[in-house]
Amino acid sequence: MSASREAAANSAGVLPLTTPQLRARIAELPRLRLAHLPTPLDFCPRLTAALGGPRIYIKRDDLTGLAFGGNKTRQLEFLFPGILEQKPDTVIAGAYTQSNWCRQITATAAKLGLKARLILVHGEKGPVPQGNLLLDRLMGAEVTVVDLRDMHDLAPLLAAAGEELRRAGRRPYVIQPFDLEVLATSAIGYVNQAAELDDQLSEAGLKADYIYLAGANITPAGIQLGQKALGRATKVVSICPISWKDDRAADISRIASAAARRLNLPISLEPGEVSVDEGYIGERYGVVTPAGRAALRFVAETEGIILDPVYSAKAMSGLIDHIRRGRIGKNETVVFVHTGGTPAVFAYANELIAD
Ligand SMILES: *Cc1c(COP(=O)(O)O)cnc(C)c1O
Repeated sequence: MSASREAAANSAGVLPLTTPQLRARIAELPRLRLAHLPTPLDFCPRLTAALGGPRIYIKRDDLTGLAFGGNKTRQLEFLFPGILEQKPDTVIAGAYTQSNWCRQITATAAKLGLKARLILVHGEKGPVPQGNLLLDRLMGAEVTVVDLRDMHDLAPLLAAAGEELRRAGRRPYVIQPFDLEVLATSAIGYVNQAAELDDQLSEAGLKADYIYLAGANITPAGIQLGQKALGRATKVVSICPISWKDDRAADISRIASAAARRLNLPISLEPGEVSVDEGYIGERYGVVTPAGRAALRFVAETEGIILDPVYSAKAMSGLIDHIRRGRIGKNETVVFVHTGGTPAVFAYANELIAD
């Protein structure tokens, strides 16, 4: 530990933590191992050269391994122990039909011998048996597709599905996607990722100036809390895939602060510390943008790495735009977190090959 970190640790009693100390805090919480960790940290020399610097690394959370992987696998490692305490026979979850969250929940349920019941909002792709929805079906999920304008109207439908199964003598567990406990518990998976990445960077003798990712709530909250606990100055920039009425920075800071309480860390994250860019959503959530399509093809052609059209490609279009605008120095280092979602490329084939 450097002299300044040592001094700060002494004055605050605990902070900042070393990565073993942070890992020890996390180890006190129940966890179900689901992901193949650590995920690789790949240097992208051709992408870096094509953009004329900064140095770009991709943290491959698309390779967490559970039924095509993605960021939700890390989150579910910490969410599922609380679910299993209730001894359910079925988990009920919901989101859009191309949901990565529901696909990874279904895979976890399958692994544990539980049934998965999904209430999926039609969204852009509806009931087409492709991408994530195809995988949900292959893993045995029972799926209902509904038409809702506002995602927040899903909560009562999930609750009603739970009631119905309970009346039929089953033991359902309803995963409510906007519940603060669900969000904060899941965020621990990304506090853990922050420790993992910090160790990888140290071992490689690197320092990240920026972390870029596609994030709306859980993932940026966990990463920012982890960075703060470790006393890192790395700037975390979340490129938002979705437009919601409530303020993203406020929501992310609220989730991070709740996750800090679970870890017994005397940290709160203020909205002003959170950098969320909502400038790359395009028409709306789930609709391919021309810049996102170009970014997806650019990374595919330069590095042989496949991004997803809904999240990571839009985030990469934001990173590329920030680089072109000179917001990142040529000699700086960026870690781009590939949050997964790759099955969706097959559901979006027509939009992705259109020129
Ligand atoms: C869900 C998801 C995100 C956003 O994660 P949050 O935890 O909601 O911030 C980003 N990328 C992919 C591929 C996702 O599936």
